[in-house]
Amino acid sequence: MDQKIDRILGTYSSGKKGPLLFLSGGIHGNEPSGVEAILKVFNQLKKDKPQIAGTVVGVSGNKIALNKGTRYIEEDLNRSWTEENIRLKKKNSSEQKQMFEIIDVLQKYPAEAFTKRYFLDCHTTSSASLPYISVQVVNENDEWAHRFPPYIIRGFSDIVYGCIDHYLSRIGVTGFVFEGGRHDSPHAVENHEGMIWIALEKACDLDLKSLSEMPKSIGKINNSQKDQKTFEIVHRFGLEDGDTFSMEPGYENFQKIKKGELLAICNNKEIRSSWDARIFMPLYQDQGNDGFFVIKEVES
Ligand SMILES: [Zn+2]
Repeated sequence: MDQKIDRILGTYSSGKKGPLLFLSGGIHGNEPSGVEAILKVFNQLKKDKPQIAGTVVGVSGNKIALNKGTRYIEEDLNRSWTEENIRLKKKNSSEQKQMFEIIDVLQKYPAEAFTKRYFLDCHTTSSASLPYISVQVVNENDEWAHRFPPYIIRGFSDIVYGCIDHYLSRIGVTGFVFEGGRHDSPHAVENHEGMIWIALEKACDLDLKSLSEMPKSIGKINNSQKDQKTFEIVHRFGLEDGDTFSMEPGYENFQKIKKGELLAICNNKEIRSSWDARIFMPLYQDQGNDGFFVIKEVES
């Protein structure tokens, strides 16, 4: 993005009591799509001035990394939100300092001032993917996530520790992570935008018809998956330092796999599927210690 990104991307209210909708984009600095989408939505809100209940606030995540176009400065901002770091008020790294800046913003919108507090954390993926929701199944997150059209992955955020959505869930804010598509894909911006509008409709009672024109992004996200499905992780193919790993070409997130199918070569050995299921997060970059995940559809 050409313009300098601020911490606060926008705030909007029409003075009516209601919930807080807390939007975050660019927690990873190489994922500007969420920020772009948040800015677009605030532009239209300021222009059209529709009635909403409560307040919507948008913040940038790793602002410094976003402005440099890198994923992070010293450490991953989506691993720093641990109970310990927050309790000890650790401000050693750029990311820890920025984490407390975001917490300071949130503290201006305390639970007592709202009927409820929601969050939507916008991310993108390194490889092509259908948009999807990643939900930590605590409090009302899962129920809330099922009010949105995209595919839902449960339990993925439990594998990693210190994500912003964990922190927000711990302090009682309801929400999920939304992965809009590939980092550089224009569809990712649209998908994020569509989800933000739907969140405004569902959380803040925005009547989408009261906008000067219906954002096209809403139709896109509604049509992005024919019907909602819910998935759980059944297997993680982990890698150790020094392993050689090469995924068979052409796999995309959510692609179906069959028992016996060759998935990857690891340390010169064939890795074949033991499942009739789907593949998730196949590793096609050099870095990472997850070769792939296997997910299965479950009853929602
Ligand atoms: Zn991310």
